Amino acid sequence: MKTYESLLDEVTAFSGKTRIILDPATGEMVGEAPVHDLEYLEQAVAGARAAQPAWAASGHDARSAALLKAADAVERSAEELAHILSREQGKPLNGPNARFEVGACAAWLRAAATIRLAPEMIVDDGETRAELHYKPIGVVGAIGPWNWPMMITVWQIAPALRMGNAAVVKPSGNTPLSVLALIKVINEELPEGLLSVVSCGREVGARLTNHPAIGKIMFTGSTAAGKAIIKSSADTVKRLTLELGGNDAGIVLPDADPKAIAQDLFWGAFINTGQTCAALKRLYVHEDIYDAVCEELTAVAAAMPMGNGLDENNVLGPLQNQSQYDIVADLVQAAKDSGARVLLGGNPDTSQPGYFYPTTLVADIDNDNPLVAEEQFGPALPIIKYSTIDEAVDKANGLDVGLGASVWSSDLTTAREVAGRLEAGTVWINRHGAVDPRIPFGGAKQSGYGLEFGVEGLKALGVPQVING
Ligand code: NAD
Repeated sequence: MKTYESLLDEVTAFSGKTRIILDPATGEMVGEAPVHDLEYLEQAVAGARAAQPAWAASGHDARSAALLKAADAVERSAEELAHILSREQGKPLNGPNARFEVGACAAWLRAAATIRLAPEMIVDDGETRAELHYKPIGVVGAIGPWNWPMMITVWQIAPALRMGNAAVVKPSGNTPLSVLALIKVINEELPEGLLSVVSCGREVGARLTNHPAIGKIMFTGSTAAGKAIIKSSADTVKRLTLELGGNDAGIVLPDADPKAIAQDLFWGAFINTGQTCAALKRLYVHEDIYDAVCEELTAVAAAMPMGNGLDENNVLGPLQNQSQYDIVADLVQAAKDSGARVLLGGNPDTSQPGYFYPTTLVADIDNDNPLVAEEQFGPALPIIKYSTIDEAVDKANGLDVGLGASVWSSDLTTAREVAGRLEAGTVWINRHGAVDPRIPFGGAKQSGYGLEFGVEGLKALGVPQVING
C-alpha cells in the first residue's frame, strides 16, 4: 500500500543531480526531482525500442486489458497522486482540480482502452478491394506542460500505448514529480521499458524532437515551443500532434439569462485558476445584458475560496510559478492603467507567501488591450461589450489562435449558427472547456494541429496502411 510519502520517496530516489521543487502555495520544499541527462534519455529511448515490438505483437485486446488495469492502479493510488499534484502544481484537492485530474487520468486510460478501431473497407466493388489499417508508429515522445501535468500526459500516452507504441515522457520542469508519480503507478501494469519518464531540462528534452528513433511527438504547450518543435523535427520527418496555446473567446448573446449562465461562465474561465489551455479568456457580452452579466459573474466569483490546495475548503489555488504570476500581474496592471474598470480583484497581497493572484474581473476594456489580445493563463478575465453579433464574431476571430470558443444563448438554433462562424477547434454552447474522451479535441490556426481523443485520437497514434488487393 503506497502512501503520499512512500510514493514521493520512490520518485525522488535518484543518485545523480536533482532540483528542488517548491510548493507554489507556501514556498516550502515538496521534494527533489531528478535531473536526467542525455545518457539517461538515450537509455529510455533504447528501452522503449526494445520493449515495443512485443507490445505491438500482443494485439489490441491484451493492450486494452493492460490499460484497464493501469486505470485501476491509478484509482488505487488516487489520493496519494492528488496530494503530490496539489503540492507541486498548487491546484486544490477539492473542486475541479487535483482529485478531478487524477479521476480524468483513469477515465482517459479506460477510454483509450475501450474505443473500437476496426480496419475500414474503403472500396470493395468486385474489381478493387482496399482496406485501411493503422499500424504502430514505434516510439512516441510525449512532451507536456505544467498546468494539467498528469491528465495531459495520459492524453498523450494512453492512445500511444493502445496503438502498440512505446512512449518516452518529458514532463515540464515545473511539475516533474506529478508525472514521475503517475507513470510509476501506471508502470505497475506495463512491461519493463515500454513507458518511461525523462525528468530533464528543456535542452535535453529537445533531443526527443530530432531523435531518429522517435517516430512521433505528442506536444502540448506554448505556440512558441510548438514552432521550435516543428523546425527541429523536420530532418527526421516526424509525425506531430501539436496542442498549443489559445486565447478562447466566449460570446454571450442578448437573449442569454445572466443568472442562469453565471456559474458555468465562471468555471469556463477560472478552472484550474485560469491555467487551462481551453479556458474562456475573453468574454464578449451584448450591451443589453452587459451590466447584468458583470453583476452575476462578480457575485459568483467573489464567493469562490482561494488558498492552499490541501485545505478542503478551497477551489482556487495559486499560479504555478513566478513567471506566470508576473504575466498575469503585468496584464492586469496594464488594463488598470488603460482606465478599464476592475469589478473584482486586481489587488494582490504581496505580503503573503505563494503565487496567489486574486480572482479578477475587468470590465469596460478595449478589444486591443493586452489583457484581451494576449493569453493571460491565470485568474483574470476581461469582459468586452459589443453591439452586433457580426462585431462579436469579428473580434472573436481576430487573433491568430483558435483552440476553443463558446456561445451563450437561450436559443440553441441561433447559438449553433453563431458557433459555426467561429474559427476554433471546438465551440461549446452554454459551457466552455468541457472535454470528453469520446470527442475529438484539437486547435485551429496557430493553436496547433492533429486531434486527440476518440477514434480520431487513436488514428493519430498509428501509421495508416492501405492493403490494396
Ligand atoms: P511551454 O511550451 O513553455 O512548455 C511545454 C513543454 O515543452 C515543457 O515540458 C517544456 O520543457 C517543453 N519545451 C519547451 N521548448 C521545447 C523545445 N524547443 N523542444 C522540446 N521541448 C520543449 O509551455 P508551458 O509554459 O509549460 O505551458 C503553458 C502553455 O501551454 C500555454 O500557452 C497554454 O495555452 C499551453 N497549453 C496548451 C494546451 C492544449 O491542449 N492546447 C494544454 C495545456 C497548455
